[in-house]
Amino acid sequence: MKIIVSACLLGQKCKYNGGDNYSEKAAEFVKGYEVIPVCPELAGGLPVPRIPCEIVGGIVVNREGEIKDGEYRLGAEICLKTALENGAELALLQSRSPSCGAKYIYDGSFSGRLTEGMGVFAKLLAENGIKVMDAEDLQDVCQP
Ligand code: SF4
Repeated sequence: MKIIVSACLLGQKCKYNGGDNYSEKAAEFVKGYEVIPVCPELAGGLPVPRIPCEIVGGIVVNREGEIKDGEYRLGAEICLKTALENGAELALLQSRSPSCGAKYIYDGSFSGRLTEGMGVFAKLLAENGIKVMDAEDLQDVCQP
């Protein structure tokens, strides 16, 4: 079975600050799957590093107030196409990201507060029938 995975969870340095979100639990979980790593923000043409974004009133905006919605939606569409073409049925996604967040995202105030909701990419995957998992939930899955 094929699984889409946020590339930063597997150690790709595609995070806004040039770092990654490497997760041993994620690396362990995906063993046995055919892994398709994607970063929708890079796919949409955004650079590393980049100014962090949040979703404000349904629109993706960076901390400087510049609208980045087009790049986010383009990247999400490109990575959705990759998922569908490969027949992926499951996606393991980095928590809280305005792209990849599957359960909670930052609330648009750039103050670190969270709200229930999905990032642009996670939402698009779910709307297209691909089951999305928040990487933070792996703790429960992996615990003996
Ligand atoms: S868009 Fe997703 S894969 Fe890319 S850095 Fe952000 S959380 Fe990771």
